[in-house]
Amino acid sequence: MNDLDLWTIDYGLLTKFGKNILKDNSIIPIYEHEIYIFIASNNANINEKLLQDIFGKPTKNLLVDSQSFNFELLHQDIKYQLFSQGKKSLQNKDSKNNEESYISIFLETLFLSAIALQSSDIHIESLKNSFVIRYRIDGILVQFFRFDIDLFPIISSSLKLFSKLDISQKRIPQNGRFSKKLIEKNFDFRISILPTITGESIVIRILDNQKAFLGLQHIGFCDDVYQSIKKNINFSQGMILITGSTGSGKTTTMYSIINELDKKKKKIITIEDPIEYNIEGIMQVPINEDIGLNYEMVLKNVLRQDPDIIMIGEIRDEYALRIAIQAALTGHLVIATLHTNDASKTINRLLDLGAKPYLIASVLRLIVSQKLIRVLCQDCKEQVIYENKMIYKNVGCVKCNLSGYRGRTIITEYFEFDDVIAKIIKEQQDISQIALHTKYEKINENAFKKVLDGTTSMDEYNLHAI
Ligand SMILES: [Zn+2]
Repeated sequence: MNDLDLWTIDYGLLTKFGKNILKDNSIIPIYEHEIYIFIASNNANINEKLLQDIFGKPTKNLLVDSQSFNFELLHQDIKYQLFSQGKKSLQNKDSKNNEESYISIFLETLFLSAIALQSSDIHIESLKNSFVIRYRIDGILVQFFRFDIDLFPIISSSLKLFSKLDISQKRIPQNGRFSKKLIEKNFDFRISILPTITGESIVIRILDNQKAFLGLQHIGFCDDVYQSIKKNINFSQGMILITGSTGSGKTTTMYSIINELDKKKKKIITIEDPIEYNIEGIMQVPINEDIGLNYEMVLKNVLRQDPDIIMIGEIRDEYALRIAIQAALTGHLVIATLHTNDASKTINRLLDLGAKPYLIASVLRLIVSQKLIRVLCQDCKEQVIYENKMIYKNVGCVKCNLSGYRGRTIITEYFEFDDVIAKIIKEQQDISQIALHTKYEKINENAFKKVLDGTTSMDEYNLHAI
């Protein structure tokens, strides 16, 4: 089957030959040659006469699979808008004012469509003769738009202008952020621009304030995990670790925990790299390695600030861990994230970072290890039988962008520290024994519950939980 994503579609042909008749007959014109016209369809036997009537010249038919064909049709209107706005800004390249306004409209359309599709990131990548725009939706990249390379420098310059970066600089990486008012609402974006051999790779993270400030009970934890976090953040000292790989939703969990804390009666200081959201009532300190402001240095100074709760964006090295443990031993509650894949490996990671077993045993209160898993679309999921059990599978409809999934939820494994676990660690016994001594649910067990209750599918389980 051919891949429609590889083609730069001339959306101008839609108006030339009649959008409705093309749509009704499941035809997408791709480009027009002097002698023939190139079209895409998911039907191998389109009526020749019909094609002749519509186009008045011979056609070459690119057969594509129904999934990508339908995806293209679903977003055709918005892509047509992007196409026209892109063309207009190219035509008005030399008249400064118009170029800016057309490209602004193009970018606004792009941001709005990415937000409407619940994307977390927009990737704009220059290739040799064209550039592509891809959205990350529920953790997966989907190509959305492809256009001539001529427009890329204009987009790149505008985005650099928005984020107050150096427009003339195309050879070193640049990072920044900007805000935009879109349909009466303010949105924050974080941007990273990386030079590549064909130009630049631009990634825009859409910072969704609403998602970040969801309460802890609304981000997908099972009740027992939620209750355990609630209980442990009320202690005045000790350490809570949220662990997981990149993109496992640790940051959202951290911000949701901050929301639960008593900001009035407690001094809360966060150390973050970078700071994603500003929160009223707490002190947020950004890491800046360029001027030597690393976790270790910030942590040392945070301790002189009489804090009650210290949040550490990520414990990366033994120095930061050592100070964090000291803080947790001396009357502070430390909440931190760590990059590990499961809860029991977290102890090993701490030992690798040089932490003494007796210290780990005395400061740790709770480890929550998390991953994200896609949630089945409620409008199109279908019942299937799996080993005598009723579960659901993904199908795909207009509401879920044909993927069968909408949004993600958290799967977890966690353990709370008690005397038995502390003893195992202190005496450096086999850490895998911990599981035998606590009501400890493995991440795959937790995920399978979410298969059985219809939250997710077996495919997602196989992809993320084992
Ligand atoms: Zn659906």
